[in-house]
Amino acid sequence: MAWLRTSARSLTCRYAIVHENLAIREHLRSLINRERLVETAVRLIEVPSPTGKGRAVADRLAALLGDDGFTVERPDGGYRSAPAVAVRLASGKPGRTLQFNGHLDTVHLPFVGPRVINGQITGSGASDMKSGVAAAVEALRVLRDSGALGGGSILLTAHDLHEAPWGDGRQLDALITEGYVGDAVLLPEPLHGSLPVIGRGSATWKVNVQRTGPPVHEVMRPLDEPSVIAAGAELVARLARWNAELGALANPLCGAASVFVGQIHAGEIFNQYPRECWLEGTRRWLPGTDRREVERDFRARIAALASDTGTTVDCRWCFIRDAFVLDQADPVVEAFQRANTAVSGARLPIGPKPFVDDGNSFWALAGVPAITHGPKAGGQHTVEEWVSVDDLVRVALQYAMTAVLYCAQ
Ligand SMILES: [Zn+2]
Repeated sequence: MAWLRTSARSLTCRYAIVHENLAIREHLRSLINRERLVETAVRLIEVPSPTGKGRAVADRLAALLGDDGFTVERPDGGYRSAPAVAVRLASGKPGRTLQFNGHLDTVHLPFVGPRVINGQITGSGASDMKSGVAAAVEALRVLRDSGALGGGSILLTAHDLHEAPWGDGRQLDALITEGYVGDAVLLPEPLHGSLPVIGRGSATWKVNVQRTGPPVHEVMRPLDEPSVIAAGAELVARLARWNAELGALANPLCGAASVFVGQIHAGEIFNQYPRECWLEGTRRWLPGTDRREVERDFRARIAALASDTGTTVDCRWCFIRDAFVLDQADPVVEAFQRANTAVSGARLPIGPKPFVDDGNSFWALAGVPAITHGPKAGGQHTVEEWVSVDDLVRVALQYAMTAVLYCAQ
């Protein structure tokens, strides 16, 4: 009967934990101020901040946090035009540091001011991701006011230079190198239906195929000069064959490594022999692949094309973010899932991360587990961004609850 007593005890114990989690949840929930959260999002959205021009919105966030009584640091991360914002909340007891990290820049599209309507906030950055940052700020306030953090600390960071192609993540990379990094990170990008555990790395490339002579009428074409259009077509064919080979390296969750051609341009009119042909596309790779090797391999194939076709080929390679893996054995994953059960009634199913984000940098540069989880939202990278206010409140609670379960060891 010993096993029966043991399992009865563990059941009682589990019940006590569940019960305690629900009590913590209710305490935290009672302190979330929905109006204050919405106001914070609106105050961030109303300051235009296209990537690279994030100073004013970072100043606004710093002022909001300062008015709340937090001590605000402004590390520039090598980008003095728009210093980042950092705030620490320490429990005063030993434990882990959970970081909330967000970007304050938005894609370069016409600015749309904030509106609060029908339970949603709209405007530039409403979805991607100023409202998510506001939810993280609300979680920080609630953690301070509740005194629920039994150990460890919170580090909130917000920065510029996220959105490609205007930004390349340099500022965050520098912040990580300078030590503005926790033991685990939550990022409020608008992904909420699954827990992303794997994602591909990505780079963009642009190849310019040229011959030496000027553009001429096709009947005057020098017979000893190669056709740049034929060379461009050859490149497309080679990349298609290569892409098929890469398809064999598929991961069941995040798909296959790939090389993709998105644009090809050559010529001005039908009977002119053009001087150049350019192509642009992407290259994606799976975790475990060395990104420098990926670039070397690509450049070698381009050099081979030049030599085989008698053309000159120039290749611009733009690294975006490295591949991503979430270590599912890390304690932050269990804390996050227990929080999700308390807040939303169930654990999140695992899934892929369909895009690259700053979580990839935390993993690739510092080996720090990063969970991308944000509000129900839409219209990212369009002029019609929106976010659900109800879900922002849920995210604030989810972040605060995860911190309580994770930080105290
Ligand atoms: Zn984003």
